[in-house]
Amino acid sequence: MKKIVSIAIISLTILLFSNQGCKEGERPNIFTVQDDMELGLQVNQEIEGNPQEYPLMDPAQYPEAYQHIQRIRDSILNTGLVDYGDKFAWEVSLLRDDEVLNAFATPGGYLYFYTGLIKFLDNEAQFAGVMGHEMAHAAERHSTENLTKVYGLQVLLSVVLGQDPGMIAQIAADLAAGLTVLAFSRNHEYEADEFAVKYLYNTSYDARGVAGFFEKLEGSPQPPQFLSTHPSHENRISEIMAMWEALGGKEGKYYVESYNQFKSTLP
Ligand SMILES: [Zn+2]
Repeated sequence: MKKIVSIAIISLTILLFSNQGCKEGERPNIFTVQDDMELGLQVNQEIEGNPQEYPLMDPAQYPEAYQHIQRIRDSILNTGLVDYGDKFAWEVSLLRDDEVLNAFATPGGYLYFYTGLIKFLDNEAQFAGVMGHEMAHAAERHSTENLTKVYGLQVLLSVVLGQDPGMIAQIAADLAAGLTVLAFSRNHEYEADEFAVKYLYNTSYDARGVAGFFEKLEGSPQPPQFLSTHPSHENRISEIMAMWEALGGKEGKYYVESYNQFKSTLP
């Protein structure tokens, strides 16, 4: 057994330190797709059980708001371009806090949007851009790639030693408690933007909406929470525009009116 463990440690070390050379789709992730789904479900339960930290809006109390956000989600899912589109939960939740300009996604496709972010934006293409970005983080499994770096050895050892039960639950609890800071890398941000542009390009939304959030932030004195977990970089807007042009530069719609209707259903 000891020998197996040492071999496992050596292979994992190679796996973790060879990250840089990996091509897209070959990046190390020691979690299974099933783990992503299980983690997401457990984080979702932790969030539902902690209304002080996560002021969830009840879908029964705000059916119209949920109809709007689900309609926007469906328009992205219906492109057929979202990986695990039929497998992950793709459950959208609204969090009531007008001071918070943020959105986040768990592994396995549980998506959360603060009312502050929704009210900050001007049109549905901008909001669909943020949603597409969050969906891409989940669909491309960026969180469990990050978790591979944070927990890799521990998870691998627990599997090798047959002590697995509880590990996923522990990680889920850490995630929900914010103990595991999952700031995405620049590459993850770039990739999530790229996928968001691709998704929106195949809807009736103008895919340049993906840049909308960052355009609105320019000149803003306080960087919002979004940037603490989704680090920005100088060229982000121009990179999004270049992606849109590379796809053919098709103009889409912004849907100001239906977005205002969505906003009017929020408390
Ligand atoms: Zn991001």
